[in-house]
Amino acid sequence: MNFSTAARRLLLSSPVLAATTNVAAFTSRIPLPSAARALSSSSTSLNMANVLKLSDPQSQLLDNVDVFIFDCDGVIWRGDSLIDGIPETLAKLRAAGKKMFFVTNNSTKSRAGYKKKFDGLGLTEIPAEEIFSSSFAAAAYLEQSKFPTDGSKKVYIIGEVGIGEELDLIGIPHLGGPADSEKAPDMGPGGRLEVDPDVGAVIVGFDRNVNYYKIQYAQLCINEGGAEFIATNLDAVTHLTDAQEWAGNGSMVGAIKGCTGQEPTLVGKPSPLMIDYLESKYGVERNRICMVGDRLDTDVLFGTENGLQSLLVLSGVTSEEKLLGPDNTITPDYYADDINAFFQTESEPSLTK
Ligand SMILES: [Mg+2]
Repeated sequence: MNFSTAARRLLLSSPVLAATTNVAAFTSRIPLPSAARALSSSSTSLNMANVLKLSDPQSQLLDNVDVFIFDCDGVIWRGDSLIDGIPETLAKLRAAGKKMFFVTNNSTKSRAGYKKKFDGLGLTEIPAEEIFSSSFAAAAYLEQSKFPTDGSKKVYIIGEVGIGEELDLIGIPHLGGPADSEKAPDMGPGGRLEVDPDVGAVIVGFDRNVNYYKIQYAQLCINEGGAEFIATNLDAVTHLTDAQEWAGNGSMVGAIKGCTGQEPTLVGKPSPLMIDYLESKYGVERNRICMVGDRLDTDVLFGTENGLQSLLVLSGVTSEEKLLGPDNTITPDYYADDINAFFQTESEPSLTK
């Protein structure tokens, strides 16, 4: 399946909307993970989500997985702090021959930008090719969909430096982004905003300096110029600081949906585009991939919706209470306190309840 097909399928199924508005109907279409299936036949409670805590990592996980896809925030680090024990655990996985990819829906940095963050946290052995930011996903989508790289078509960006840096690497000219952060359109009598007629796509990513100029520019490119509308991610909220939740890229995408009436092509989690890319580039089998994350509605859904194994860690935003509570219908194969549990057995204190 190519990116365009995947994108069409995604738009038809709209998992994010389903996850937030009709979880039960949506997840009823998803086959239960093997662990949940096994447990469901002998379940003692109809009201609890059937998810097993990882207790024998070798047989439950490591023997069955060739590739780990790790969400970053809440799994590898929290904000700017590395989670204890992570470097040693990643080194053990690498020594065991496991492939690893690090996925983030945050588009503000490019892969090179994230590589600097990994380096700064002491994770210097992770190459940029193992990092999948949604800024990279947007560029990869354009490359796969044969967006011209001869300069005949350009991209307008609502977003920060990461998207432009990724487009530079594949030779696609771009405008907007940080360069338009201080601009305001002429809104006096007869005022109009002139846009570049060669804009063939608008990429909308998280932008701390979004303004009316950028929204109007994107609106004109899409409504009048026929440019494709691409969203790096639809996250409702994000964690700019640890003091509160902050409006995420869903708010920027929502602004453009509101003035165009169009649904975007989504390239970040839980879109299947990244898995299609991994499959075609590295020849990996989906059922030997495990998605590891701290969010049910993006990370675990990304895994279950794409035929991957999935594991939720409690080191981020999801509590054990929420995971196992009666309102949750999104079920990973397993859960663990954090990824250090991959090399611990249940007799060790960190896994006993
Ligand atoms: Mg996370």
